Amino acid sequence: MSEEFVIYNGVRMISDWVKRIEDAQLQRTYVVDGRPYERIRYGDESDDWGADRQPCHDCRVIKGQYHVPTCDVERCPVCDEQALMCDCHYEDDDGVLRIVPST
Ligand SMILES: [Zn+2]
Ligand SMILES: [Zn+2]
Repeated sequence: MSEEFVIYNGVRMISDWVKRIEDAQLQRTYVVDGRPYERIRYGDESDDWGADRQPCHDCRVIKGQYHVPTCDVERCPVCDEQALMCDCHYEDDDGVLRIVPST
């Protein structure tokens, strides 16, 4: 495993993570019970996570970007709970898995 660091969104991070962020921007919806729901971008949460001042503390996206799936800041577009923890039934969207922690 090579750990190469880059500066992205003004933050130093592992280059693999930049790819995770960029992949996350391609997944614009979650499918819940057969219906697509537009994901909630950083800064659009009902709570103030400081999007005007800093990148997401968990996944490092900046305001207006989609969180990296499994980010603990991301809200569920259906129930507005923490997307990572809520009970909504998500389906795979175009083969992109969400909320399934990679092990
Ligand atoms: Zn995030
Ligand atoms: Zn939910």
